[in-house]
Amino acid sequence: MTQSFPPRPAFASWLSTGNSITQQFMAIGGRPDVVSLAGGLPASELYPVEAIAAAQERALTRWGTQILEYGAIEGLPALRAAIAERFSAATGRRFGPENVLLTTGAMQGLDLVGKALVDPGELILSQFPTYLGALDAWRPRMPRYERLDWSLQAPGHDAALRQAKFVYAVPNYSNPTGVLVPQDERAALLDKVEAAGTWLLEDDPYLPLQFDGPAGPSILAHHGQRHPSGAYAGPVIYLGTLSKSLAPGLRVGWVVAEASLIATLALAKQSTDIASSLLTQAIALEMIESDFEAQHIPKIVETYRERRDALCAAATTHLSDWFEWEVPPGGMFVWMRAKDEAIDTDALYAHALAENVAFVPSSVFDPTGALKSAMRVNFTRSPPEVLVEGVRRLERAVRRLLAE
Ligand code: PMP
Repeated sequence: MTQSFPPRPAFASWLSTGNSITQQFMAIGGRPDVVSLAGGLPASELYPVEAIAAAQERALTRWGTQILEYGAIEGLPALRAAIAERFSAATGRRFGPENVLLTTGAMQGLDLVGKALVDPGELILSQFPTYLGALDAWRPRMPRYERLDWSLQAPGHDAALRQAKFVYAVPNYSNPTGVLVPQDERAALLDKVEAAGTWLLEDDPYLPLQFDGPAGPSILAHHGQRHPSGAYAGPVIYLGTLSKSLAPGLRVGWVVAEASLIATLALAKQSTDIASSLLTQAIALEMIESDFEAQHIPKIVETYRERRDALCAAATTHLSDWFEWEVPPGGMFVWMRAKDEAIDTDALYAHALAENVAFVPSSVFDPTGALKSAMRVNFTRSPPEVLVEGVRRLERAVRRLLAE
């Protein structure tokens, strides 16, 4: 085969299109004529601009040039300790700074876990449909996938668990489905993971967004309750972030895991970005220590609950002839499944754009691209009246598709 010039970047061949799907949805979200129900973005009017400015001022006074250095790969020690303390309190197990790696968002945690753990052809057992960003992060590692069955009853599931390099799960208000996994299913999965001797990657960005009562303990907390003594050692690799409780642009996230794995992930991180920004970590520390984050979350929850309800009510009026869904008890998305398999949401998408509304078709949340009959609809980015208009436009798009 002759080489084309300039040579095609290897990374581009891992993407299904020249442009990543995420980039396409971000671009559509920026068009004022389009109601975008596609993105996974928070409400920007709730970003605490003044509080972040004040926290930055305090951080620079407190740390001076120290937070303008590259800093330790693992992150600002005081923030690692604060995150560790949060997990000790929530899990009953002892977590120290050595159990925490600060990352450039939870997204980097996904990337580092792939980089550190997965060789080409290895198996990842994942909840499906699942987060597109995780699939994108792991694509260069060329893994195989099998579906995580939360009932644990699927034929061959135990064998898959034993073979898997890790299990990937988003138990709280998953992206894209909004599902909250019940506590007994979390405990049963942990049993199986412990028996199989594999890792369990628990990705928890939506933890702060609990609209209808508490989400209950994480799988990491279940593990802590079972093995309460000593420093944390176990199969759970937990990812958290400040993207939903403060602002995604801070790019502050964390991995919590046993210390030896944190050391491995830190090595992987060094060759990625040397270290995450200490400046934003120091801002985050101020906002956690002053309790600002905890006080801010209820405002976000109240706004999003109202938006979820407005979207679901409009969908009942305009879309329920063709779609069904569960009202999500938290998170950012409603997962709408076509009642009739003949509704292909890839085809619907073109009509939606013609009506100036966007959503994310289900095919992108599945590594085989085969899931064509559902769509992810976001309710956090726009006020209720815009969401209602978006749903009206979606109805028109469905009618166009069916009239074809
Ligand atoms: N995991 C999931 C399931 C997500 O939906 C997202 C995006 N919100 C991330 C990880 C990445 O989050 P962050 O902004 O912390 O990188």
